[in-house]
Amino acid sequence: MKDEKAVVVFSGGQDSTTCLFWAKQQFKEVVAVTFDYNQRHRLEIDCARQIASELGVEHHILDMSLLNQLAPNALTRDDIAVREGENGELPSTFVPGRNLLFLSFAGVLASQIGAKHIITGVCETDFSGYPDCRDMFIKSLNVTLNLSMDASFVIHTPLMWINKAATWKLADDLEALEFVRTKTLTCYNGVIADGCGECPACKLRQTGLDEYLLSRGEC
Ligand SMILES: [Zn+2]
Repeated sequence: MKDEKAVVVFSGGQDSTTCLFWAKQQFKEVVAVTFDYNQRHRLEIDCARQIASELGVEHHILDMSLLNQLAPNALTRDDIAVREGENGELPSTFVPGRNLLFLSFAGVLASQIGAKHIITGVCETDFSGYPDCRDMFIKSLNVTLNLSMDASFVIHTPLMWINKAATWKLADDLEALEFVRTKTLTCYNGVIADGCGECPACKLRQTGLDEYLLSRGEC
């Protein structure tokens, strides 16, 4: 795959930044795409822009504000609280159709720039209840994208079956642990690096990091 081109769906968070490092190792040319859907924390876009620039990766920021128009949620609105899903409910951070739209637009971009590969950091293991992070959905969309554009895209999900600790290990193996730890934004409260420490995203990230560092014998 060394001589091929890839598009990474990139939010500036831990997972997609790790995927960006992974893609840079796997492919000759890597392009990052970030979707602007009026995220509550505009810092996410700045963060993504900064990381892409530091890594020397061509970066496209696409306007997806229509998503917020259609489906306001806890990631786009200050007056909707972040809460975890209980009793089979979806969490308030779930945005219906988000990965369907993002990956479809990534497919259009890939087709425009002659990229065969699309990389996304979705993960079924630390499953937060998002149906569009499941492997079955990605496989189904891969087929749909190929049929819709008469293309032969391959969607890669390097994090699909690994937990957060293993995602940190992957970053470490790619010599990117410190980079990912200090420059990415995962926190629902918009705090860069180690985050607010309170929200579900921070807890997941920190627990995974502690577990990984412990396994390395460092804390
Ligand atoms: Zn947080």
